Amino acid sequence: MSERILVVGGGIAGLWTALALARKGRELTLLERDPPPPEASADEAFESWERKGVGHLRHSHAFLARLHILIRDNYPDLMEELLAAGCRELKFADGLPLSLQESYRPVPSDKDMTILTSRRTTLEFIMRRYAARQQGIRFETGTLVRGILTDRDAAGQLRVTGVRAEQNGETKDWLADIVIDAAGKNSQMIEWLNDAGACISEETERAGILYFTRHYRLHDPENEPARTKIPGAGDLGFIKYGLFPADNGCFSITLAVPEIEMELRRAIVRPENFDAICAQLPGIAQWTSSETSRPVSRVFGMGELISRWRHMTKDGEPRVLNFFPIGDSVIRTNPLYGRGCSFAGVAAEALVETLERSNDPHERARFYHAQLAKELRQHYDDMVKQDLAAAKRARNALDPDYKPGVKARLFKSFAEDAIMPAIRGDVELMRAFMRSFHMVDAPNTWLRDPRNVSKVLRTWARGKKRNADLYPPKLGPGRTEMLSSLGISPTADQERLKSA
Ligand SMILES: Cc1cc2nc3c(=O)[nH]c(=O)nc-3n(C[C@H](O)[C@H](O)[C@H](O)COP(=O)(O)OP(=O)(O)OC[C@H]3O[C@@H](n4cnc5c(N)ncnc54)[C@H](O)[C@@H]3O)c2cc1C
Repeated sequence: MSERILVVGGGIAGLWTALALARKGRELTLLERDPPPPEASADEAFESWERKGVGHLRHSHAFLARLHILIRDNYPDLMEELLAAGCRELKFADGLPLSLQESYRPVPSDKDMTILTSRRTTLEFIMRRYAARQQGIRFETGTLVRGILTDRDAAGQLRVTGVRAEQNGETKDWLADIVIDAAGKNSQMIEWLNDAGACISEETERAGILYFTRHYRLHDPENEPARTKIPGAGDLGFIKYGLFPADNGCFSITLAVPEIEMELRRAIVRPENFDAICAQLPGIAQWTSSETSRPVSRVFGMGELISRWRHMTKDGEPRVLNFFPIGDSVIRTNPLYGRGCSFAGVAAEALVETLERSNDPHERARFYHAQLAKELRQHYDDMVKQDLAAAKRARNALDPDYKPGVKARLFKSFAEDAIMPAIRGDVELMRAFMRSFHMVDAPNTWLRDPRNVSKVLRTWARGKKRNADLYPPKLGPGRTEMLSSLGISPTADQERLKSA
């Protein structure tokens, strides 16, 4: 008899898992609390798909190259459907600074550096429709999992045997040989397992930012603003911004604000403030101008962003058997890096490999979690390190007495006067750098190549003056100017911090 598999949650991780399992001929039941998407169109999915289970559904999303490769190679027909629905492929060459475009010569591996982007509702709606057509995948929507069923084997090891769920007002037990927890960042399954004695530990770190997103529609979808020297994404310290071209003439802007900027984060949710900020950022101002587009949503905000890694094994031995958490339920990352969906896709492939290679529950648990660590841990550590550094910079920016020490100055200069101009002036360095960004290579692989290090050091040695052309143009006003323009006192947060 084939194994009974339950997947809890039909978001991104649940869908990748279901597709990967079905590809290997397995059967599964997917329990999802929310209703299915509307039948009609991408626009209707954006406007009316009710998704209480995914608070971030209407925030900007893009799939990095690692996930693009996975779809392209494993589900070419899904890729066709995504593109037909208006999802966009942003190729490596599209993202090059204008100064590098002339010297750019394509190489075959550039096809592995394409981003897939659209409104998340469109990506998910098409994936979901595709999954519903696959043999072996059964959706049970309107099904809210409220508990986990466990027992212990002869050796006393905790095992999962199913879940308890509510459907149409009735509570029912769903028995299974394997339970996959794809219930997202607010999944409670691990807490329930800990209540049953699993002792699963976790490490967390604050992302240090809040996320704000607004959607727009171009008046003329065929006529997007031309690219300029000023990038569509950038970091001003007190605000990070990003432009996300999307499907069907839509795009979104995300502004991320350090948690410590209390006044700014309160003001930014008001649409007039959000748009006033966009109007002062030359990389996106033309897009949000009323001559080019009109806003089609409120400003969606999201806080409580953390990175979290849950340890499902101790000294290599599993805490629980027949249970596989995937996606945000086991590893959460700062959305700024756009890696959560790729993490889920990679984990889904690891899970399928796990189930194919062994029937032994201990061996399966060991192998799956070792694969997650091998594939994802370096990326996770790298992101957390960057978040801690960014939070420190944001704190220092609010301290008028802050004077950086020699080490901090050297570090800043290496990043700003060596790495950044070197990458901006050399297609090969840019390519090598972007491969890590896209999770095609491990973090900082490019800096392990002595030829790349020597290019970076040569750029540093040339000095700022001779590298002048390699610095990005000014991305926007300084903090004092921007906050004053919004009627916010630039010193209010400084005073609050001083008196704290
Ligand atoms: C603001 C923001 C922006 C982001 N941007 C990007 C990006 O650009 N690129 C990227 O790759 N990643 C991005 N991410 C991360 C990405 O969205 C997540 O990593 C991804 O959604 C994780 O998928 P998941 O399936 O684990 O969770 P979800 O997508 O949240 O899905 C969980 C599913 O489980 C269901 N569910 C929950 N509880 C139950 C229950 N008890 N019973 C039944 N069903 C249940 C929910 O309804 C939902 O369908 C972003 C995250 C945030 C917060």
